Amino acid sequence: MQQGEHFSDRLEAVRTRINTACAAHGRSPEEVVLMAVSKTRPPEAVREALAAGLRHIGENRVQEAAGKRRDGGLTDGFWELIGPLQSNKARLALEAVDRIQTVDRLKLVERLDRVCGEMGRAAFPVLLQANVAEDPAKHGCRAEDAPALAEAIQASAHLRLEGLMTIGELTLEEGRVRRTFARLRELRNHLALATGLPLPVLSMGMTGDLEWAIAEGSTLVRVGTALFGERA
Ligand SMILES: *Cc1c(COP(=O)(O)O)cnc(C)c1O
Repeated sequence: MQQGEHFSDRLEAVRTRINTACAAHGRSPEEVVLMAVSKTRPPEAVREALAAGLRHIGENRVQEAAGKRRDGGLTDGFWELIGPLQSNKARLALEAVDRIQTVDRLKLVERLDRVCGEMGRAAFPVLLQANVAEDPAKHGCRAEDAPALAEAIQASAHLRLEGLMTIGELTLEEGRVRRTFARLRELRNHLALATGLPLPVLSMGMTGDLEWAIAEGSTLVRVGTALFGERA
């Protein structure tokens, strides 16, 4: 964090951005969860976020999340995996976090379900990550593969599908970014109809595009830089 800038000031600035975007689009700020993305930050950063009243903590790497939680003694908070997950790290992920936002392929669904069974976990919450921007560099399932994956999660014994997640297009063009977010919302609506599940969570929007995500219905914004400063 830069000198002279306090977490509380940054948090207030982010809250103001969220409130302003909600007001502009007829939404209540209570509909939008602010997640603190603490990847690359020390446990103290997480502690500061928790002390300020944030509950959702986002981490990209399973080992980093597990280490921070264990070595930092951080038992509080609702920790979420927002980075790609290899099947062979399923068990570690299930031990380290409270929700996995990056389920994007059948093999991972099957592995998570089986390990949840072995661990005696029931209804473990997951989000489906969809690459609606069709960016070859990004993880996430293709939109056309999402229905089969949603059905597989619904049919699983130990997983509960709560919604969808995406990463916006890396461009400053508002129209393009918003179209991507709108596509995720439409996909969610489609899957909710097809499965009968409510799928309330739309995880979209980061430091650079959270206003556009809120405009398109985001219920959870994942914010790192605006809360903690630039990553080294
Ligand atoms: C790093 C990361 C974020 C936060 O990005 P900022 O631009 O620092 O707010 C959000 N979502 C995912 C998936 C990330 O990897």
